[in-house]
Amino acid sequence: MSELTERQAELKSLAERAGEELEEASALDILRWAAETFGDRLAVTSSMEETVLAHLASAASPGVDVVFLDTGYHFAETIGTRDAAEAVYKITLINVTPRLTVAEQDAEYGPRLYERDPNLCCAMRKVEPLERTLAGYEAWVTGIRRDQAPTRANTKVVEWDAKRNMVKINPIARWTQDDVDAYAAENGLLVNPLMQDGYTSIGCAPCTRRPEPGTDPRSGRWSGTGKVECGLHG
Ligand code: SF4
Repeated sequence: MSELTERQAELKSLAERAGEELEEASALDILRWAAETFGDRLAVTSSMEETVLAHLASAASPGVDVVFLDTGYHFAETIGTRDAAEAVYKITLINVTPRLTVAEQDAEYGPRLYERDPNLCCAMRKVEPLERTLAGYEAWVTGIRRDQAPTRANTKVVEWDAKRNMVKINPIARWTQDDVDAYAAENGLLVNPLMQDGYTSIGCAPCTRRPEPGTDPRSGRWSGTGKVECGLHG
C-alpha cells in the first residue's frame, strides 16, 4: 500500500474522529457536517431504490453531486426513478457509464458475462466507473446500513476508505428498513416501483430477483452464485 499524502493522512484522522463523534448524530446532521467539511469535494452515490439518501443530501446541501452508476443493465423502473429524482430534487446528477457499452462487452467477452463471471462484469460496469468518478472527490456518501448484511454490521457513520484513500460517509448506517420506509412515506419520496412489487434490494436486472418471503432482503441479488457484494464496499 502506498504512503498517504499529507492531505490523505489529515483526512484519515478526520474520518476516524468523526466516526466516533457523529455516531449518535442524525443522518441530516451527518450530511450537514459532510457538506460543511468537504464542499464540492463531496459525492453522494445512489442506486435509486427509494431515493432517501438523495433527498437527505439535497436538504443538507442543495445542488450536491449525486452519482448514479448507469451499468447498461438497469430495470426501466430504476432509470425512470433516476430521471424523476433529477427533475424533482435539488441535486446535480452525475450519470456514470462503463468504458464499454453492453454490445461492446458482449463482442469482446461474449454475451451474458454476468452469468459466467459476475465479478468481472461488476468490475467493468460498476467498480471501475465508480473509481474513475470518485478520483475527483475527497469524500463519498453511501446508503449502506448495518442491518443489510453481516458484511455491513460494523459500518461506521464516518470511516476511512483505505481502498480509495478517501473519507466514506454512511449517514443512514444505523437505520433499519422500517426507518427507511417511514422516512420515504413521511416525506412523499420517489420510490422505485419495483420496491412495491416484491423486490427489496435492486441492482442490475439480470442479477436481481425477488427474494423468497422471510429471507434476507439482499438474497435476491446474484441469487444462487454465492456472490453478496459487487465490490464497491468490500
Ligand atoms: Fe454485471 Fe450483474 Fe454486476 Fe450488473 S450486477 S455489473 S449485470 S454482474
